[in-house]
Amino acid sequence: MSLAVPAPDWRRALVTGGAGFLGSHLCERLLDSDVEVDCADNLLSGSRDNVAHLEERPGFRFVECDVADPGAVGKLPGPYDVILHFACPASPADYLAHPLQTLDVGSTGTRNALGLAARDGARLLLASTSEVYGDPLVHPQREDYWGNVNPVGPRSVYDESKRFAEALVTAHVRTHGTDAGIVRLFNTYGPRMRAHDGRVVPSFICQALAGDPVTVAGDGSQTRSLCYVDDTVEGVLTVAATRSVRPVNIGGTDEVSVLDLARQIIELTGSRSRICHVERPEDDPERRRPDTTLAHELLGWEPRVPWAEGIKRTIDHFASRTGVPSAGAGRR
Ligand code: UDP
Repeated sequence: MSLAVPAPDWRRALVTGGAGFLGSHLCERLLDSDVEVDCADNLLSGSRDNVAHLEERPGFRFVECDVADPGAVGKLPGPYDVILHFACPASPADYLAHPLQTLDVGSTGTRNALGLAARDGARLLLASTSEVYGDPLVHPQREDYWGNVNPVGPRSVYDESKRFAEALVTAHVRTHGTDAGIVRLFNTYGPRMRAHDGRVVPSFICQALAGDPVTVAGDGSQTRSLCYVDDTVEGVLTVAATRSVRPVNIGGTDEVSVLDLARQIIELTGSRSRICHVERPEDDPERRRPDTTLAHELLGWEPRVPWAEGIKRTIDHFASRTGVPSAGAGRR
């Protein structure tokens, strides 16, 4: 399989956070494109299980390594042609449980990854986030919006870590001419999310499959725009294959309220779960939808997997793991 963009001449890639949800899909996609992959992960929120099916593949190597530890990073062999810097706890539950590690990986970790890129003359792509827009006052969010982040709120450990990482990448490009870029990823869903990582899609699916109450935060009128993992991966690799320095939004454009999402997942799983309302997290963003004009017009990227297909694959994944068949999966 080749990449969607004119294939860059990559022989070996480093994926930091490669044993996480997105990282593991990236490793797999690169191997499928005949790129050798070093998957570096400290297994704080990632899992060796996510890459177990890749371990025997030629060109794949797992390295247990904390990217925030300069000694460990310096030992990564390389040389790398491309570095995808994805290491970071990414679900609110994870980054709230590991606030200092989250700040460390965005700051020291990004600095170390940039050092490797300089060592090898590699292209580096930083996985940034829609959270740099905070609770946005502009809708949809374009890349030139500066955001509305509470610097001392609970989410700041993630938001400011990623904002600082963006500043670091930009400073390296300006000061050292490093070939580096930034993708701002919006909510992505799909197989290999952790069942209990607290994020909305796996939480609702697992609750619905188990027949447990589906926990909608607040009245559920807050929105998110979801993108299936294969589309996100394609978007990431598309940006990685350019020499673009500008941050690029990658995300789904169909905006859905959390309450609607709960109703849809209950229906699709054929569940008898009821909806229960729980307290809304502090600083939970009200609305979120990317403006993806830049990705579309400059790079020709747009999401392709329809919601009905993506959510079916995701429900099937969790149903096969929990052993709870989804009535909806049979019906479809
Ligand atoms: N959410 C919810 N119930 C849950 C988990 C999440 O209502 O069991 C809400 C959460 O408050 C937020 C949205 O779903 O409004 C998306 O949350 P998630 O943690 O998936 O990602 P975020 O976009 O907030 O990083």
